[in-house]
Amino acid sequence: MAIIFEKSVAGRRGVLPPRKDVPVDEALSPDLARRIELDLCELSELDVVRHFTELSRKNYGVDTNFYPLGSCTMKYNPKFAEKVAAHEGFSDLHPLLPQLRRGGMLTQGALAVLYELEQQLGEICGMDAFTLQPLAGAHGELTGMMLIAAYHRDKGNDKAEVLIPDEAHGTNPSSAAIAGYSVRAIPTDRETGMLNFAALQQAINDKTAAIMMTNPNTLGIFNTQIKQIADLAHQHDALLYYDGANLNAIMGKFRPGDADFDVVHVNLHKTFATPHGGGGPGAGPVGVKQRLIDYLPISRVVKRSDGTYFLDYNYPKSIGYIAPFYGNFGVCLRAYAYILRHGREGLIDISENAVLNANYIKESLREYYDIACDKICKHECVLSASIQNENGVHALDIAKALIDKGIHPPTVYFPLIVKEAMMIEPTETESKETLDRFIEVMKEIAKISETNPESLHRAPVTTPVSRLDEAMAARKLDCCFHQNE
Ligand SMILES: *Cc1c(COP(=O)(O)O)cnc(C)c1O
Repeated sequence: MAIIFEKSVAGRRGVLPPRKDVPVDEALSPDLARRIELDLCELSELDVVRHFTELSRKNYGVDTNFYPLGSCTMKYNPKFAEKVAAHEGFSDLHPLLPQLRRGGMLTQGALAVLYELEQQLGEICGMDAFTLQPLAGAHGELTGMMLIAAYHRDKGNDKAEVLIPDEAHGTNPSSAAIAGYSVRAIPTDRETGMLNFAALQQAINDKTAAIMMTNPNTLGIFNTQIKQIADLAHQHDALLYYDGANLNAIMGKFRPGDADFDVVHVNLHKTFATPHGGGGPGAGPVGVKQRLIDYLPISRVVKRSDGTYFLDYNYPKSIGYIAPFYGNFGVCLRAYAYILRHGREGLIDISENAVLNANYIKESLREYYDIACDKICKHECVLSASIQNENGVHALDIAKALIDKGIHPPTVYFPLIVKEAMMIEPTETESKETLDRFIEVMKEIAKISETNPESLHRAPVTTPVSRLDEAMAARKLDCCFHQNE
């Protein structure tokens, strides 16, 4: 497809505004005036509309088809929440409106949403307080690690290291490192799919600042030794961090706070169905236990006894601001609407169906693909293309073949500890018919990998461009690609 500049025709116009009839402001410095012509493409309004509409139809999203991306919870984003977020009482608010007195009446509703969402997340996770400021899961992790560092510093603890299982999402070690800690990986037992407890016992010492865990982990396996892990951490005055990206598996079943986790983050754009956008905006609220509340970012929303709200900045031990204003307010608002709409029973149903769907896919494909850890999984299952490998077919080939069938590929080559990994997270929002179609397509690809493996190396053939050099595509945006006929 031609880019819009290639469609430009000299002299063609969409809307032609009348010539300027006001003098240029004298105060405007002449150096600021444009000296060269603005290089815009020249098109009619209809040309522009058709160009962008056509482009949008080439886009793939959860509103167009199945999106089983493991570890990302690409669930349907209900339009109801969009409608709530677009309400002008919220969308027209300026973040600098006064919070007190007369003008404050304009912001009380927004403050109530923030306050109540903090309470809801506290209840869902079993934590004492939340901040909604972090702008993504990874940002929540960094905030959490900064809180842990502030806690140890304040107590005069000499801490240096964070322990993280080797299946962890890459953001975990990155966040710990940016917060100033060195990182040690703890091996995962392939039989149980859980971290090796003996290795953890060996690695932990009085320099350990924290253990960072996802539960269920990125293999989709729930760690049942969590109580022993928490006790071990606390014996060494290390804190336990819960990466809540997989909360969609366990809402209403397990609360990290009850298992003695000290800090958690949740990804509103995963569990609470807010859009992921093009890599954002998201939100990664962080919850803490009592002993970490003093370090939370400012400002904090406080409810007075008369039912009104205000922003409190008086936290001298706070780690300060970690995002402008109140975080991604529009994202928080959508999550708030989603939680209220589903209620306690609804959130439990969500988790149960997410787990059921993942196990349904795993069991339906067991005769066709290797299963990374053959146990009941939670909300995602990890398959391996190791059988297909014998015919020279890789997880990448299967991913690309799925594109030709109109299905977004799952996450591939992650978790790193599984050879030829394909990590599939169907979510609760997909129907049995959609799952069945995906299963049929996966079976068909498994058969092709026996009868005609070569053909899979050429996929995708139905897209405008075929396989990209992914590193090049990110670094050199205008490089040439092989075009499909
Ligand atoms: C998605 C994810 C993260 C990072 O969250 P972002 O919101 O993408 O920054 C961290 N850990 C796990 C397990 C995840 O799945």
